[in-house]
Amino acid sequence: MPTLITNGTIIDPDTQQMSVGSILVDNGVVTARFEGLLPADATVRTAPGTTVIDATHKLISPGFIDPHVHLREPGEEHKETIATGTRAAAAGGYTVVACMPNTRPAIDSVAVVQHIRTAARRAGFAEVLPIAAATIGRAGKELSPMRELVDAGAIGFSDDGVPVGDPAVMRNVFEYVKMLDVPYFGHCEDMVLSKGWGMHEGAVSNRLGLPGYPSAAEEVGIARDIALAELTNSRLHVCHVSTVGGVALIRAAKARGVNVTGEASPHHMTLSDRWVLGWLDEQAEARNEPGMSLNSTTRPPYDTNTRVSPPLRSEADCEAVLQGLLDGTLDFVATDHAPHGRVDKEVEYRLAMAGITGIETALASMLMLVNQGRISLMDLIVRMTDAPAAFLGRGTTALRTGARADITVIDPQLVWTVEASKLFSMGKNTPLLGQKMRGKAVLTMYKGNITHQE
Ligand SMILES: [Zn+2]
Repeated sequence: MPTLITNGTIIDPDTQQMSVGSILVDNGVVTARFEGLLPADATVRTAPGTTVIDATHKLISPGFIDPHVHLREPGEEHKETIATGTRAAAAGGYTVVACMPNTRPAIDSVAVVQHIRTAARRAGFAEVLPIAAATIGRAGKELSPMRELVDAGAIGFSDDGVPVGDPAVMRNVFEYVKMLDVPYFGHCEDMVLSKGWGMHEGAVSNRLGLPGYPSAAEEVGIARDIALAELTNSRLHVCHVSTVGGVALIRAAKARGVNVTGEASPHHMTLSDRWVLGWLDEQAEARNEPGMSLNSTTRPPYDTNTRVSPPLRSEADCEAVLQGLLDGTLDFVATDHAPHGRVDKEVEYRLAMAGITGIETALASMLMLVNQGRISLMDLIVRMTDAPAAFLGRGTTALRTGARADITVIDPQLVWTVEASKLFSMGKNTPLLGQKMRGKAVLTMYKGNITHQE
């Protein structure tokens, strides 16, 4: 049955145009697009069996693509499953996600790749692209059967959670990645420098007495992987870049023609290490408009939901990551959605599992930066749609006739509160619990089926 989404502002990331119009969807694809306001008596509206969705004062965007999430299945279904993680993705406006291989077992066999693809198809909330382990069991010793894994549907390789520690093994991974023409997703960290870390190393870690994860641990990791990608003429994608120095290394490598890309996570642009100290300004909430600031509520110190790898860093680092996204050094927004159970977080700060669930708050967090005038709406949408699509070797996501009907309708003014009971993800581990946000995906459509509606 056809669905007609009417009178919204259609955002086209390809031509970078925004204009009011309507979109007709049938059989999973966009079948027509109407420019301007659609009259109330238009025959397309009144055609029998057509579902009409009014998008007046809302934005109509292609569905978002997130090339870095953790779905925890197989093996940690108490944290998230493919069904719950993709349902959360739909609530966040996403229609395509790529999932990391730090599952149990790791995604290092064809059977696991097939399980993920089958479970995702069955759930039907989003397309799931498996990223396979670069080494068996992510142990950093022997390469996984990379050719078989690509043939089964893996779209790249990573040992995310950890780097491939041995540089000689890493060099071999790059040789195979080059041959197979897929990216290596680098979790770039010098594990010796970061050993025993509690949080970002700086003034706040000194004050709280927590062991630090210096920026240099990320920078050394990125520098090594850039050198090896350059040596092998291979393809490196740097995950969750979080430091001034990390952004600078990627910028310089791109300038000399190294095949490197990078991603920016919303929490690394909007939350600093100050969040570990807690925000204790009780008057702030009354002063701040929702959607203009996140520093608006009373927060306890040592909130383990702020513990993430790489850690929340300084204000200067947050700014550098945003600047990197703006100038194209970092190619797209990726959430690094990392659900954990309560037991993983209700422990001493330093011992809490690292990870933030971000897929349902990413849009509102990024819209805050739009409201602050620090990134344009068009830039943001491009970096959540066409830019990750290009990284994945796909064409434009623009909603033209014939395009797959992956659509996100956004209400940029909707004010909502992040509440554990309302998150679709099983992981409630976000420091934004209780935070008032502005802007939300109010309807998400994947292959023409409505997967989320407010
Ligand atoms: Zn990682």
